Amino acid sequence: MQTPQVVVVGSANADLVLDIDHRPAPGETVIGSDVVTTPGGKGANQAVAAGKVGGAVAFVGCVGDDDHGALLRDSLSSAGVDLTDLRTVDAPTGTATIMVTPDGENSIIVSPGANRHVTPAMLEETRSSWGAAPVVVLQLEIPVESVAVVATGARGRVVVNAAPAARLGSAVLAAADPLVVNESEAAFLLEDAGAAAGPADDTGATARALLRLGPRSVVLTLGAAGAVVAETRRADADRPSDDVRVGDEVPPADDAAEVVRVPALRVEAVDTTGAGDSFVGALAVELAAGATLERAVRLATRVAAVAVTRRGAQTSFPTLEELERAATQLQDRESG
Ligand code: AMP
Repeated sequence: MQTPQVVVVGSANADLVLDIDHRPAPGETVIGSDVVTTPGGKGANQAVAAGKVGGAVAFVGCVGDDDHGALLRDSLSSAGVDLTDLRTVDAPTGTATIMVTPDGENSIIVSPGANRHVTPAMLEETRSSWGAAPVVVLQLEIPVESVAVVATGARGRVVVNAAPAARLGSAVLAAADPLVVNESEAAFLLEDAGAAAGPADDTGATARALLRLGPRSVVLTLGAAGAVVAETRRADADRPSDDVRVGDEVPPADDAAEVVRVPALRVEAVDTTGAGDSFVGALAVELAAGATLERAVRLATRVAAVAVTRRGAQTSFPTLEELERAATQLQDRESG
């Protein structure tokens, strides 16, 4: 197996999906459909997405010694992901019970189970796999103190997907390059920091506001509207510090920000489950291959666009071959 260029440290869950007529009220029992069990969890999803587009990927995480753990191992290894540091621990594999009502809304209960065993101690023991990796990917379904150990200890580029929304320490924010969030996660982080988000329709202002929280770069995902990339301009970043004297007004960081909007591909969305995860996995592979952030976001939007045209999470993520085929079909549709 190739030396991993992308190491995803994070969660693995079995998604237990069932349809219900309505959400049960307190004390009520409702009858649901048969349960459909699929491999999920943000970390495992991102690793599978990265592996399917041809990245040399490793996953660091924990599952239980049960059928759900076997399902996850199977899906990850089918995508070519190195599982040397996927541990089997004495706890049930994490689950997400997803109840879907006829209006398409989800209610989700996550039981972290084995994901709680992705502790700072476990990460110290597995440092050889993530410590020197060119790109490390983190999300927030493992303990926050574990996220901090990796974000601050990794020597490579650190992609932090702040999902699900949770408070991030300043050290984790400072390591993020990029911080990847959707609009609701962005609103949470800005509110938590007491920062103004800017007008609701000005996503560029939101991306700039996020950049002021301390990450090196920001990717704000916007569903069918694509994504916004915000980076500190290199020339300003390199400016000697004696440019600013005591008493001078220090220019706000966003003066030096470069903001680029990347549109999504126009597709018929069938199921957006895991779209953000496929985006993050593909982004990491491109960054590891040396692409600029903007270029990596362009590939990520293509991968996520294919993913939303198919059902499921990991099962919906395209291989490179499928991606090329889809790109041709989309071009044909747009020119036809
Ligand atoms: P989200 O987490 O909803 O912001 O989605 C993540 C990424 O998936 C977006 O930045 C898009 O690139 C892609 N995406 C999500 N929904 C759609 C859609 N309906 N059509 C095309 N691309 C989508």
